[in-house]
Amino acid sequence: MLRRRAAERRRRVAPWLLLSCEHGGNRVPPEYRRLFAGQRRLLASHRGLDIGALAAARVLQRRLGAPLVAATVTRLLVDLNRSIGHPALYSSLSRSLAAEERERLLARHYHPYRQLLHDWIAGRLARGEQVLQLSVHSFTPVLDGRRRNADVGLLYDPASGAEARFCRGWQARLAASARGWRVRRNYPYRGTADGLVVALRREFAGQPYLGIELELNQACLGNPSQAAALLADLAASLES
Ligand SMILES: [Zn+2]
Repeated sequence: MLRRRAAERRRRVAPWLLLSCEHGGNRVPPEYRRLFAGQRRLLASHRGLDIGALAAARVLQRRLGAPLVAATVTRLLVDLNRSIGHPALYSSLSRSLAAEERERLLARHYHPYRQLLHDWIAGRLARGEQVLQLSVHSFTPVLDGRRRNADVGLLYDPASGAEARFCRGWQARLAASARGWRVRRNYPYRGTADGLVVALRREFAGQPYLGIELELNQACLGNPSQAAALLADLAASLES
């Protein structure tokens, strides 16, 4: 009973929040294992999944009492954060699948995930509620020999006043926390580059939908005490 009351209290704090995690795992369904023979290291790398992102999303889910929709199929099979027709929808390993196999892959692993999120958001908006989707991702600390100088990236559409206001405020609250997190906006990627929330933003244009990608540095997530502190500060800064 007490636990339920605590959950209800948290839900009131973040009633408009929806968490998602498109690159949560590196699972290869049995029917596609032949494509990944000898690729164990690649699968375990940041190219196979967003390392630490699903664990981080689950912590935020627990702390904030927000729903979480997560996928665990490797992005090397089909990238749930890319649009149909995007050159990176399939990887070099899955691009060789025959057209009908790719259709089956989309029908089983891509469309249901995106449709679930779409329908959840559409339902909320139809009831006159607003929605803030946080799409939780992680980035590798060093890419092509260059160190990325941020702990947290907030990716949004600068042309959306509501998203820009929200992210500026969130950045300021995080930077003001005792640990002084390095938070950058639209880094290490642009918030308008192809992605799930970008597609949903287009779909729900003119409605109170905010789609933001939360990018977390894998160096932070890989250090248990730093990860715990970062996630606690992220949750607290969303509640305030
Ligand atoms: Zn990602």
